[in-house]
Amino acid sequence: MRAALFSSNPLCVECERLGRVTLATQRDHIRPLAEGGTDDDSNVQGLCHACHEAKSLAESKRGRQRAQWGAQ
Ligand SMILES: [Zn+2]
Repeated sequence: MRAALFSSNPLCVECERLGRVTLATQRDHIRPLAEGGTDDDSNVQGLCHACHEAKSLAESKRGRQRAQWGAQ
């Protein structure tokens, strides 16, 4: 599945949006599993390491905020 994803779109989609061409090295869930996303191909994209890190950071911040709101 990993190989299929990168062969159909070997570039980082986030960099591509910004006009950069970077090889994807990470398999990323567009909608995080923690936020109800699925492991389906339609919810998976390729990201480079830097974009994946940035996205993961934003997601973990959102996760912490949700946890705080839940506790209130
Ligand atoms: Zn990137």
